[in-house]
Amino acid sequence: MSKIALFPGSFDPFTLGHYAIVEQGLKVFDKIIIGIGANSGKKGLLTTENKLKLIESIYPNQDNVVAVEYCGLTGDYCRENDVKFILRGMRNTVDYECERNMMLINQKLYPEITTVLLFTPPEYVSVSSSIIRELLHFGKDPNELLPSNVDIKKYL
Ligand code: ADP
Repeated sequence: MSKIALFPGSFDPFTLGHYAIVEQGLKVFDKIIIGIGANSGKKGLLTTENKLKLIESIYPNQDNVVAVEYCGLTGDYCRENDVKFILRGMRNTVDYECERNMMLINQKLYPEITTVLLFTPPEYVSVSSSIIRELLHFGKDPNELLPSNVDIKKYL
C-alpha cells in the first residue's frame, strides 16, 4: 500500500524551508499532499488560488506532490480522504512546543493518524513565510528564500 502524507499549513507563501521538508518527506512517503488550510478569516499575502498556482509551478505534472485547499480541521480532512500521516517541519524549540501540542490533540481525536515531524536543514532554520512577507512589505526582494524558479511578484 502506498504511503500518503498530508503536509498542512498556511504556505503564505511556500518557502525553501517547506520545499526542504517535502524533499525529505519524499524519502519516507510515496506521495505528499500539500494542504493549504483555508480556515481563518485573516487576509494573508496570497489568495488561496495563487498559493496553489505557486506550488503547482514548483511541482508541475507531478503525481507524487500535489497541492489542495481544504477547510475545517486537518484531522477531518485526513479521515475523509483516508490519509494516515500528517507531515510537519520543525525549525526550533518554539515549533517543537506547537507541534507537540497539535500532535497530542490529533492523537486523541484521530488515533488512526500518525504525525511525522522532520527537522529543518540548518541552512533553512531562519526561513519563514512571515520573513518573506516582511521583506516584501519593505520593498526588498525575498527570492533567495523561495524555491529557485518562483517569481513571487507573479502571485501577489
Ligand atoms: P502554519 O501556519 O500551520 O504553521 P506554515 O505554512 O507556516 O503553516 O508552516 C507549515 C509547516 O511547515 C509547519 O510544520 C512549519 O513548522 C513548517 N515550516 C515552516 N517554515 C519552515 C522552514 N523554514 N523549514 C522547515 N519547516 C518549516
